[in-house]
Amino acid sequence: MELSLTEMQKRYLELKSRMTLALEKAKRNSEEVKLIWVSKFHSAEAVENAIALGATDFGENRVQEAESKFSVKRDGIRCHIIGPVQKNKLKKAVLVADCIHSISSEEALEKLEKVCAENEKVLEILFQVNAGEEETKSGLDVNEAEAFLSSLEFKHFPHLRFRGLMTIGKNTGIAEDSRSCFSFLRNLQQKFLKRGGIFSEFTELSMGMTLDLEVAIEEGATMIRVGTALFGEREYPI
Ligand SMILES: *Cc1c(COP(=O)(O)O)cnc(C)c1O
Repeated sequence: MELSLTEMQKRYLELKSRMTLALEKAKRNSEEVKLIWVSKFHSAEAVENAIALGATDFGENRVQEAESKFSVKRDGIRCHIIGPVQKNKLKKAVLVADCIHSISSEEALEKLEKVCAENEKVLEILFQVNAGEEETKSGLDVNEAEAFLSSLEFKHFPHLRFRGLMTIGKNTGIAEDSRSCFSFLRNLQQKFLKRGGIFSEFTELSMGMTLDLEVAIEEGATMIRVGTALFGEREYPI
């Protein structure tokens, strides 16, 4: 069962007050943090309710599910792909997404560049770093991320905009446990932003979910990806 509009509004207001408190604590402005509504496993109706509440940015894990909800483009609505994309789904990902948060290979970049060129489209890219160092998580290894990004410095991807980094915090249930991976991510992002060139727009830090968004905001997140706090529990298909 999806939440009613009234219930979702209540959750949205609660989330906004969590964000406001964290922003105040961090002495940051509300415009510095974009809320991404993670609608994975939720229906098109839930997305409509979110839009009615003012949502503009949606996150989906799987390309196919993103297509079913966002392939018809609407003014002011942006689709973010936040889960790992299989090679054979990259083309479809380009067509549906405005931004992909989960890139961690040069091969994927080359394919994306090619498809974007064919479709005369510019795509925003975030690189996923496995800063939580969990085996099940995808993304660049923390020890390899810097070398990987450096290797891209003088390459040419005219249809891709390298916008920043993404990570998933520690999944321990204790928000504070994510702080060190979030600060690691910020340090890496700052380092590359300073290099300019292909990294001159490297301003984004996509980090923080329902359980650890306050810590992420304190550590400099510019995008938080929130599902459960807004849409309720996900019902995973059996
Ligand atoms: C599902 C998911 C989220 C949202 O998680 P919640 O805990 O429901 O807020 C954020 N980021 C990624 C990459 C996800 O897969």
